[in-house]
Amino acid sequence: MYYDKDVDTDVLKNKKIAVIGYGSQGMAQARNMADSGLNIVVGLREGGKSWNVAKNDGLTVLSVEEAAKQADIIHILIPDEIQAKVYEQSIKDGLEEGNTLSFSHGYNIHFGYIKPPKNVNISMIAPKGPGAMVRQTYEEGFGIPGLVAVENDYSGNTLELALAMGKGVGLTRAGVLETTFKEETETDLFGEQAVLCGGVTELIKDGFETLVEAGYQPELAYFETCHELKLIVDLIYKNGFAGMWDNVSNTAEFGGLIRRERLITPDTKKEMKKILEEIQKGEFAKEWALENQAGQPQLKRLRAIEGELLIEKVGSKLRKLCGLQK
Ligand code: NDP
Ligand code: MG
Repeated sequence: MYYDKDVDTDVLKNKKIAVIGYGSQGMAQARNMADSGLNIVVGLREGGKSWNVAKNDGLTVLSVEEAAKQADIIHILIPDEIQAKVYEQSIKDGLEEGNTLSFSHGYNIHFGYIKPPKNVNISMIAPKGPGAMVRQTYEEGFGIPGLVAVENDYSGNTLELALAMGKGVGLTRAGVLETTFKEETETDLFGEQAVLCGGVTELIKDGFETLVEAGYQPELAYFETCHELKLIVDLIYKNGFAGMWDNVSNTAEFGGLIRRERLITPDTKKEMKKILEEIQKGEFAKEWALENQAGQPQLKRLRAIEGELLIEKVGSKLRKLCGLQK
């Protein structure tokens, strides 16, 4: 693990960093690095929504081409599925020997959609959390943890450069762990599919529907299977499973421990292993590439179905009533 004291930002003293994209991560990382005194320009498409946002935040905004040309370090923070196209069209030609291509997710390098020349550094500095938190914790004087990785070390100091960027973003305040593009990409995809985004929503949905189908009030079902989840996860986040078990009743502890394996069964774990294999073999990446080529038809269909779920309607109503959601 690397912390503030292990990292010297002097390696970035005469370097210009182009942050490409000003969305969730781009805005947070660019503003943090600028506030940390690093030399930042933002690369965007003219006429896009972000252009004025970045300008109004006091940053220098250039076209992607111009930013890539001027910068020593090009930090690509646009959606993963468009990075390869933007790289080909607007970044590649601006790369000079010894420049650094930097990412916050290893996807395009690991699966080979972006193939940079041998004479540039390839690195990753990735916050383990959403952009809003990257900015908020930085302003509070702390940071969120992150990952650092080097895929190609042409200049001989790529790790130092990436860590210095991480310090500028505030990540070394909380700790930065060294990894590889392969490990970061595969574990990130697995986490979001099996547990964080896929697994947890399916668990909530089935729990909610089971109660509603049995005739219980949807509002109560929502509180029970969705709202309370955050409170439980916060306990686990702070003090582990033990911290949660200590805080719930003995009845909840007994009931939870004795029933849980009937839900998430050995078959579920077998399926998790299959999902991981599909990621490792590149099958998921291929599926996602085809989906993008076709204009994201499945994603649009699934998104529409998700929006029609009763739990979403009931939840939205309740969250607005208590002011959680605008
Ligand atoms: P966003 O979807 O928030 O990125 C949106 C930004 O990309 C906007 O500024 C948009 O500009 C710009 N953009 C979109 N298309 C283009 C284009 N064709 N040319 C130039 N700019 C374009 O991305 P994220 O911040 O979610 O993700 C960025 C990277 O960070 C990804 O690699 C992701 O995996 C990684 N990451 C994301 C995390 C997160 O919390 N979201 C967490 C950790 C890593 P415009 O206004 O013009 O559309
Ligand atoms: Mg992720």
